[in-house]
Amino acid sequence: MNLSIVIPLKDEAESLPELCDWIARVTDAQQFSYEIILVDDGSTDDSWNVIQQLRAGNQNIKGIKFQRNYGKSAALNEGFKAAKGDVVITMDADLQDSPDEIPGLYNMIVSDGYDMVSGWKKVRYDNTLTKNIPSKLFNAATRKMSGIYLHDFNCGLKSYNKKVVKSIEVYGEMHRYIPVLAKWAGFRKIGEKVVEHRKRKYGVTKFGLDRFVNGFLDLATIMFVGKFGKRPMHFFGLWGTFCFLLGLFISFYLVISKLINFDYAITNRPSFYIALTVMIIGSQLFLAGFIGELISRNSPERNNYLIEDKEGLG
Ligand code: UDP
Ligand code: MG
Repeated sequence: MNLSIVIPLKDEAESLPELCDWIARVTDAQQFSYEIILVDDGSTDDSWNVIQQLRAGNQNIKGIKFQRNYGKSAALNEGFKAAKGDVVITMDADLQDSPDEIPGLYNMIVSDGYDMVSGWKKVRYDNTLTKNIPSKLFNAATRKMSGIYLHDFNCGLKSYNKKVVKSIEVYGEMHRYIPVLAKWAGFRKIGEKVVEHRKRKYGVTKFGLDRFVNGFLDLATIMFVGKFGKRPMHFFGLWGTFCFLLGLFISFYLVISKLINFDYAITNRPSFYIALTVMIIGSQLFLAGFIGELISRNSPERNNYLIEDKEGLG
């Protein structure tokens, strides 16, 4: 199969028929063999019925229905697990992403050899300050922390080599950071394509401003887990040792200066309390590292590495 199109959706019943028709028009024109995986993320409207009807008319349409609302990341994760196509494209269900971009995104993976391509909504129809300024800040922070130079991390329209989606796990609010997850999984050729941004035709947006708070915490998790997830002691141990030694050094200094001039009590000096605090913080960090290490040693995932290729082995 050439192409899997994964679409997370919550309460988008009105958009689905139009969206699927449009996708089918585009993929038929290109003569792709394809599947459309609609992941119903706990919709309370008629979406699942609509999906069943659409499937009756086009067997390329497939559906997954969550028992309740788990969020866009969870929906994408399930869609990725089910996808069978060589190229996987994600898009939003609300018709803000144009299916006409599909052939272009597909070719960048297949012909230009990108691991993943992210859409960039360069011209937004909703140029409001409340949506634009937080999203500019968010993109700048993500660029800085991840070292991936994309303009628009959060665009729902993206395409992937199948290998990428099978190597990553998306949860929490991490759908905003899939390029970062891909980079940590070892996929470095990440591209960008300017895509059209359209007006939401039906329904309302499902995300408010709280997205940015949770988003930043998730970025911190990704950066930390990616770097130290399998070796927590290297982080906590380093800083723990540093703090402890600093405290020890200050204590020595206090003891020596006490031996030289007998005339004051060590506890009268502010540096005594600093020494005490950093030594306690240091041992705490060290302990956190040990516990982290014990947990990661017991994790069933501890020896899961992503293997790209094998010769002579099954
Ligand atoms: N969505 C979802 N689960 C949720 C929230 C949203 O699957 O909990 C889907 C939604 O149906 C849409 C896509 O994620 O297909 C993007 O959501 P939305 O258009 O509301 O976000 P915006 O475009 O305003 O950023
Ligand atoms: Mg939208």
